[in-house]
Amino acid sequence: MQNFSGVGVSPGRIIGSVRQMPKPVSEPPVGERMSSSTTADEATASLRAASKVVQAELQGRAAAATGASKAVLEATALMAADPMLIKAAVKLIATGTSAERAIWESGASVAEMLHNLGGYMADRATDVLDVRARIVAELRGVPAPGIPQSTEPFILVAEDLAPADTATLDPAKVLALVTSGGGPQSHTAIIARALGLPAVVAAPGVDELVDGTEVYVDGAAGTVSVNPGADEQALVAAWLLAAETLAVFDGTGSTADGHLVPLLANVGGAVDAVKAAELGAQGVGLLRTEFCFLERDTEPTIDEQVVAYRGVFDAFPGKKVVVRTLDAGADKPLPFLTDTTEPNPSLGVRGYRTDLTTPGVLKRQLTAIATAATDSPAEVWVMAPMIATVDEAADFAAMCRVAGLKIPGVMVEVPSAALLADRILGEVDFVSLGTNDLTQYTMAADRQLGTLAALNSPWQPAVLHLIKLTVAGSIAQGKNKPVGVCGEAAADPVLAVVLVGLGVSTLSMTARSLSAVGAVLKSVTLDEAKRLAELALSARNADEARTRVRAELPILEKLGL
Ligand code: PEP
Ligand code: MG
Repeated sequence: MQNFSGVGVSPGRIIGSVRQMPKPVSEPPVGERMSSSTTADEATASLRAASKVVQAELQGRAAAATGASKAVLEATALMAADPMLIKAAVKLIATGTSAERAIWESGASVAEMLHNLGGYMADRATDVLDVRARIVAELRGVPAPGIPQSTEPFILVAEDLAPADTATLDPAKVLALVTSGGGPQSHTAIIARALGLPAVVAAPGVDELVDGTEVYVDGAAGTVSVNPGADEQALVAAWLLAAETLAVFDGTGSTADGHLVPLLANVGGAVDAVKAAELGAQGVGLLRTEFCFLERDTEPTIDEQVVAYRGVFDAFPGKKVVVRTLDAGADKPLPFLTDTTEPNPSLGVRGYRTDLTTPGVLKRQLTAIATAATDSPAEVWVMAPMIATVDEAADFAAMCRVAGLKIPGVMVEVPSAALLADRILGEVDFVSLGTNDLTQYTMAADRQLGTLAALNSPWQPAVLHLIKLTVAGSIAQGKNKPVGVCGEAAADPVLAVVLVGLGVSTLSMTARSLSAVGAVLKSVTLDEAKRLAELALSARNADEARTRVRAELPILEKLGL
């Protein structure tokens, strides 16, 4: 049996057939001419035919969709046959340009024109670029970009997924995610956990799997096996049984001896928030506000933001909701904030730093959050991402005060912030450890790179020491200010125990992980958690830390984790 191994990032065992995510459509070379055997009329006819096929395909998808995605698909389908788009391309074809290059260039001009119009029209610029890529794929006879459409459920195999892919991923069709790239903190991992899909990332070789191949995926072990047999079928059946016995989270996170650790949810908007509340989340520990506006080319208005945030607040009356200000850049580019030409986006102008290059956006966002918080039933806290210095924390707290927001905090994602946590907590009311970025910056390993997945583990003892140091900073500061964790580390039920043992006060995770984290946490006392934290801290490497702690938690076997 052919096996692939990678990093298991979302538990679950399943058997299904593979569908490869098509590679992104590459730009046709500048100046590409049509072949000498093709006439301009023939090239024009091919282009028109391709645009019709793309339009029909998008219309078909729109007919099957509902709500916001239906509207977006309908608008995109109209774009595919847009006279302006096609006319400009036909003109270029008449000068000898290849059909692919012609539609590419005319798409770019139309997108730029829409962008310059601003507002709603600017948001349609992305649709034009999507349409031109689809037409080029059709002209080349290769599959359309994006998540494949299928009437049958399938296991999606890709190089990596971007946050924007979440919008088109139908959880009723996708059984599991397998990627050759991506790391444990990549967005593929985050998407998989949010949707409760088994997932394996950083599995070299899976790109070669042919569509339709039957595979077994084990999202805890991090393995993918081709042509599974009776053994694998039995493992899937055992997993389904264990998943059924996992009780729903009862709404109170605590250790066996009653040490309370509120279990909060990471959400990207109101829909997530409503689901999280249903699943018993004790509040929101991270509202990723950039997820409300990923599709946008332009800054959302204050009114639009108020509506988006209030939808989340309304789901948690009387509970804490931590709003993170826009974390644009690197793996989450936002066209109105991100300079895509930076050579090292992860080390560039991202998160809080965008206030340097695009002043005003943060101020308006804080106004929107404060407006949404007025008369809101939720207790609204607000925090900034990517804080690296004490001064940045102080400046952010001052901006929050001016906006009327009373509980400012910052994320600890950069090692400098962990090292100076005591002084930072002198400026703000709480910190939240973003272990995804904290790991990438501590280990100097891009969180999106599958080849560095082993380095990119929050189990790395160096990362655990920085978490311990952050908690020590809060203790030294003397006011018992909360230190939460909102990175993916909190969604790992085994690591969650270690984090509690290190003294973390709250854990925020995708709502699907609440029941597993809650159950494992309830199986240990606080002293046991402290002992397990010491075992992990003193391990030689990430694997040893994880293996040591797992060996001490008998409940994992029972829960199939
Ligand atoms: C993190 O870095 O841990 C985090 C929670 O932020 P994001 O994953 O959105 O970068
Ligand atoms: Mg982060």
